[in-house]
Amino acid sequence: MHEATEPAEAKGWQDFANCLGVDPDLFFPERGASTREAKEVCKGCVVREDCLEYALANGEKFGIWGGLSERERRRIRRQRALARRSALEVEAGGDAGGASATA
Ligand code: SF4
Repeated sequence: MHEATEPAEAKGWQDFANCLGVDPDLFFPERGASTREAKEVCKGCVVREDCLEYALANGEKFGIWGGLSERERRRIRRQRALARRSALEVEAGGDAGGASATA
């Protein structure tokens, strides 16, 4: 269902997707509808990680990607943003506020 956008000869992760041939509507349920069936398909998918990372990298806002819903992906994006910010803060001045030690 998540079709490749690369040239036809380039084999991408999409070619190994468990959802090939599955009704795409399953992965884009109406608001409030169950995502269980789509997630079941994703469960056994060998390219689940690639699919999820693709969706995260491209800001896919709708549908089930990598076995996760929009809300679940949003949570991951938030967690990663927080982790990046923390890492930058540590990098930029782990000793901020510690200047008084040099008396
Ligand atoms: S993880 Fe799910 S949506 Fe992604 S390619 Fe696999 S089966 Fe399709």
